[in-house]
Amino acid sequence: MLKYDLHCHSNFSDGTLSVDELVSRAADKGVDVLALTDHDTIAGIAPARAAIAAQALDLELVAGVEISTRWHSFEIHIVGLQVDTQAPGLTALLAEQQQKRSERAIKIGERLQKAGFENTYEQACELAAEAQVTRAHFARVLMAQGAAKTFQGIFKKYLSRGNTGYVPSTWCDMHTAIKAIAAAGGQSVLAHPARYKMSNKWLRKLVNEFATLGGDAMEVAQTQQAPCERQFLGQLAREHGLLCSQGSDFHFPLPYIELGKNLYLPKDCEGVWQRWQ
Ligand code: AMP
Ligand code: MN
Ligand code: MN
Ligand code: MN
Repeated sequence: MLKYDLHCHSNFSDGTLSVDELVSRAADKGVDVLALTDHDTIAGIAPARAAIAAQALDLELVAGVEISTRWHSFEIHIVGLQVDTQAPGLTALLAEQQQKRSERAIKIGERLQKAGFENTYEQACELAAEAQVTRAHFARVLMAQGAAKTFQGIFKKYLSRGNTGYVPSTWCDMHTAIKAIAAAGGQSVLAHPARYKMSNKWLRKLVNEFATLGGDAMEVAQTQQAPCERQFLGQLAREHGLLCSQGSDFHFPLPYIELGKNLYLPKDCEGVWQRWQ
């Protein structure tokens, strides 16, 4: 059986590994099929393919992306898999999202400045280099400035909804992301449904709307997750006629989150990859 990991990040967004390091690590960890799904960018796909070829790795790369969308007051992430990286609709949408990221980063910097943290925008940009500036970059800058002891603490105190450094999102809506992914020949996957801090009533509403709008699959299996959550999500996917996906959402090496680790679907779940040629 092939090992699929269909959600991870490189330093083209907020991961810390280069695509060379990422694909080599995936192969080391026994991953057979890896989707690179950086936030709002597909710029890493071609370099990742080149890295696999250069290192002669036995690894299949799936062209992916993780698009930030807004739905009610939530930021919902939609993963696109098997996308055509040349598709004009998708590249245009990602360019808009990147523009929004840049504008938001300036505002985050201004808010943090008012809270007494200097030059966070400049430092986050420097850290991101050519990559998409994300809140994770601001979190690293704030950590270095001693704002809190842990990454989680930084998000809780400064960067999550309702806090000083949080700027409400202007991301595209879910339907726009689903349509762009479909037009690029890909499948759309509702990312990490259990991580949105919403009640089950809202979660059902979200999954129902995602399916109704033409979404293809949802993530059911993640690296760190209780078995009952996996079962619950699998059942929710089946109820809504959605295929199932799995991914580590790896950003950097941690003892408890690793590429390919603990990824399997509950029985009776159809993997999104089963529809691939
Ligand atoms: P952005 O897409 O710029 O809003 O940044 C969101 C990213 O920040 C996510 O993809 C995660 O990598 C990271 N993140 C968000 N919330 C947390 C959290 N509570 N703890 C750690 N990382 C987080
Ligand atoms: Mn991230
Ligand atoms: Mn995400
Ligand atoms: Mn992710």
